Amino acid sequence: MDAENFKKLGYELIDWIAEYSENGYDGPVFPDIKPGETYHQLPSSPPVYGEPDEHLFSDFQSLILPGLTHWNDPRFFGYFPSNHSYPSILAELLTAGLGVNCMSWATSPSATELEKRMMEWLGQLLDLPWPGVIQDTASTGTLCAVLSAREKALPINQTGFYHQPILTAYTSEQAHSSILKAIRIAGLGENALRLIPTDENYALIPGALEKAIEDDLNMGNTPCFICGTIGTTSSTAIDPIPEIAQIAEKYGIWLHVDAALAGTAAIVPEMKWLMNGVHQADSFLFNPHKWMFTNFDCTAYYCKDPKHLKNALSIQPEYLKSSQDREVDNYRDWGIQLGRRFRALKLWFVMRSFGVEGLRSKIREHLQMTQWFGLQIKNHPLFELVVPPKINTVCFCFKNDAETEGLLNRINRSGKAYLTHTKLNNRYIIRVSFGQIHSSMKHAEDLWQLILEESVVETCPSF
Ligand code: PLP
Repeated sequence: MDAENFKKLGYELIDWIAEYSENGYDGPVFPDIKPGETYHQLPSSPPVYGEPDEHLFSDFQSLILPGLTHWNDPRFFGYFPSNHSYPSILAELLTAGLGVNCMSWATSPSATELEKRMMEWLGQLLDLPWPGVIQDTASTGTLCAVLSAREKALPINQTGFYHQPILTAYTSEQAHSSILKAIRIAGLGENALRLIPTDENYALIPGALEKAIEDDLNMGNTPCFICGTIGTTSSTAIDPIPEIAQIAEKYGIWLHVDAALAGTAAIVPEMKWLMNGVHQADSFLFNPHKWMFTNFDCTAYYCKDPKHLKNALSIQPEYLKSSQDREVDNYRDWGIQLGRRFRALKLWFVMRSFGVEGLRSKIREHLQMTQWFGLQIKNHPLFELVVPPKINTVCFCFKNDAETEGLLNRINRSGKAYLTHTKLNNRYIIRVSFGQIHSSMKHAEDLWQLILEESVVETCPSF
């Protein structure tokens, strides 16, 4: 591809992205596709000689696009938001155009300093004056927290686990699977993770946490890590972080707070209460790549004292040393991988383009849509609101498990909306997750109408 074709195709792609963003996808939100269908349409070997440049985009449109789930379509209410926005897309384009590697200050000085400043800006929005670093995902951030906690408790990096006491960890039975994954990867072993029961709102019960810690101490184990969640994945339950923090402090255990989705809501002053107790924790993360209109991937990871993170992860080979090392932050020492993408640029573009008030007003709109939708469910005799919605997710069911599942499948097959499910108390639940940048109240109303229509089909078989 030469520069002329790059520009021609590039302008065409920008036009297409703008159209896609403004009007959504003109097909189903979830593809009508069978496993293997895309794979078998793709050649089994790469082309030996370069193909005409224009084939790249036309084949993308005919082969790939129809098989995608359209996460940024306004009718997408599945899983959780995974937003894009114009400033973020432009920053991603620039990042790709630059192709810089941000592993150290010396490998990209202004990128490192922009990252430091962006973490401060985000910290101000959350009233969290801690040092921060961008990780790729919440899963990686949580792994960093577990490794920091592990090294604070015992020098495992040096000694390995031989002849060491058993390290134990605690989180609620509603916590995200990334906690278990981090515990496995950090070598604590799945058996060392205590899943603490939750209350009627699916929030961790502090008394049960304390009892589990006491039991471990009595067995001679070393409790080293607690993860509280602000906004669980299934139902956006909020663990009582202030009470959990007291327990963590009493027993000297690392407290990590996973607010992957819900952290963004705390930039709205009336939702600041979400951050209660976080200042007493040791680490905290949230994902601008979920609800803060910043393209995947971008996780903001904060730690009260980065010494523990660096102690766990820093290695200094000669070829990476530079004369500025004493004066600067080298973020390769604050995370797992060496090579790092230039992610701070999209945060800078997003925060400047929206402004703090612009971000807040979008979040408020999503919070209002959630409350409105929750009310429709609550007031309708056909449905059961499983738990009062506090953030962006409405959980409901319809008659019984089989009919709830049937309703979900009919809605998704219609192509007019996309929803996903979970299980709470062993019951099959439909989740409606708001927060997609292009979704407005009109889309929430359309979704409600669709749900009503698809429920009538079920109640009147002759319909
Ligand atoms: N934690 C919570 C509460 C989540 O909801 C999710 C994603 O669903 C994650 C962690 C994992 O996020 P990531 O994909 O950034 O690893």
